[in-house]
Amino acid sequence: MLQKSGISDSINIVRTRQRREGSSTSRILRARRVAASTSVTSINTVPTATERRQALKAVYREARDCTRCALHQTRTQVVFGNGNANAALMFVGEAPGANEDRMGLPFVGAAGKLLDQLLGAIGMSRQDVWVCNVLKCRPPDNRDPHPNEIEACRDYLDRQIELIEPIVICTLGNFSTKLLRADTTGISRLHGQEEVRVVGSRAVRLYPLYHPAAALYTPSTLEALRADFHRIPELLALGAPEQPAPVEEVPEPEDEPELPPAALEPEPAAQLGLF
Ligand code: URA
Repeated sequence: MLQKSGISDSINIVRTRQRREGSSTSRILRARRVAASTSVTSINTVPTATERRQALKAVYREARDCTRCALHQTRTQVVFGNGNANAALMFVGEAPGANEDRMGLPFVGAAGKLLDQLLGAIGMSRQDVWVCNVLKCRPPDNRDPHPNEIEACRDYLDRQIELIEPIVICTLGNFSTKLLRADTTGISRLHGQEEVRVVGSRAVRLYPLYHPAAALYTPSTLEALRADFHRIPELLALGAPEQPAPVEEVPEPEDEPELPPAALEPEPAAQLGLF
C-alpha cells in the first residue's frame, strides 16, 4: 500500500539536494530516486521505486482488459504507457497510433523519434521519464478522441499521476492540455507557459507543449517546441509545488446497526472470488 503522508518529506529532500548539488537534470532525477529508496523509505513514508512500479503494474493489469468504451473492439492492445515509474517528469500525448497499437508502447513512430531527440537535447532519455496518452487505445484511422472515450479513460491517467507523483507534467498538444487544465484554451496560446495545477489529488507543474507530430511538418512549431523543451530542467529544479491538504477520511459511524447472526457469517471463499 502506498503511503501519501511523506510526500512533502521527499519533496524537501529533492529541494535540499538540488540546492546543495546544483540543478542539472540528472542530479534532480538522481535525488528523486535516492529520496525514494533511502532512509525515508525505512520509516515507510515515501513509496520506493519498486512499490510505484508494482502499483502501476496492478493498474496496467486492469487496463489491459478494459472494455469501458468501444475502442476495445478495434484495438490490437492497450497502450498503457512506459518509462520510469519513479519519474519526476511525465509526458501526456493524445492517443496511440498504428505503430503504438501494434507494439503496445507510446510514441514509437516518427513523433516518438522526435520526442527522443528533444529529450536527448536536455540530457534525458525515456528511461528518465514516464510517457503515456489521454487514451490508452487507438481510435480507428487515427481520428480524434471522442469525449466519451476521454471520460472512460480518464481514471487510468489520474491513477498514473497519483502513483508516479511527477513534479512536471508536459501535455503534448490540445487534447491532454485541455483535459488536464479543464479548459478549452488551445495549445498555440498556452505552449511554453507553466502553471501549478491540481490534477486529481496532486499539485503539479503543468507545462503545455506542442505535440511532436505537429512539429514534424511545421518548422516554426518545431522551433517553438525545441525552445519550450529547453526550459524543462529549470522547471524540474523548482521541485514539486506545495500540495493540497489531504482530504480527511470520513469517520465510521459510531453506532453500527445490529445485524442478525446469519449476516455475520463469513461468505464462502468462492463467492469472494478468492480462489
Ligand atoms: N501520438 C500520440 O499522441 N501518442 C502516441 O503514443 C503516438 C503518437
